[in-house]
Amino acid sequence: MHRIARALFIAASLTALGVSAQPAAEVTLTRLDCGTGFNDQRRFSDTFAYSDPRVPFTFSCYMIKHGDDYMVWDTGYLPGSNPSAPTVSLVEQLAQVKVRPEQVKYVGISHFHADHTGQLASLPASTLLIGDREWAALTATPPMAGANVAPFKHWISGGGKVEPQAADKDVFGDGTVVILRMPGHTPGHQALLVRLKEKGAVILSGDAVHFRENYENTGVPGSNFDRAQTVASIERIKQIEKNLKATVIIQHDPRDIGRLPPFPDAAR
Ligand SMILES: [Zn+2]
Repeated sequence: MHRIARALFIAASLTALGVSAQPAAEVTLTRLDCGTGFNDQRRFSDTFAYSDPRVPFTFSCYMIKHGDDYMVWDTGYLPGSNPSAPTVSLVEQLAQVKVRPEQVKYVGISHFHADHTGQLASLPASTLLIGDREWAALTATPPMAGANVAPFKHWISGGGKVEPQAADKDVFGDGTVVILRMPGHTPGHQALLVRLKEKGAVILSGDAVHFRENYENTGVPGSNFDRAQTVASIERIKQIEKNLKATVIIQHDPRDIGRLPPFPDAAR
């Protein structure tokens, strides 16, 4: 066979075998520490289910590596802002795993509360992925009560790129990292699904639910924006958990910290 013809034949054979297809991007999930404290559990039930005025409460944020791209999910409290705030910043934790803020392509925000958005401003080069109703509440005059507007200024002023989400969002287009529309706690609340090769599917709850007891009993905090939407979102998470045999990580529940490897290790 002629040399060129043979090369073409080999190339065609490899394509037929799928060998020339792009290899799947490696995806990993790392838990970062974004605060630790306590909360009054009675606040988290509109049916008077709890009596404990002081339960442990954690504030976590996450780094997802997708091939050569990075995404941060929630940014916790701003260091120094209150007794529950972290002592080591998100950017310092990223540096410990050799990631510079400019490498973080996307920052996904579950919702606009201060304990999820405190360090957003330290990622100015990242495209902000937030629910469209959350964005509308942040940019309204005046902003909705409870919306932590300050760290969003860079994006509100047009200095940063923002993509408000009206539906679920397949972030990298291959189904491995999907923002899930989970309204109820706030108008445009979102959760995150990460599908890992070894660990399988992982759901990061945002504040769709704050701890195990509310997840198991479909409990709703009295302060939530919409009760019916909250119940529907919890129901949706339960169905996804069942169908994908997913690990559900309730971001505020310290009992769920151990469901991911300790920093700096990553789930893969
Ligand atoms: Zn919240």
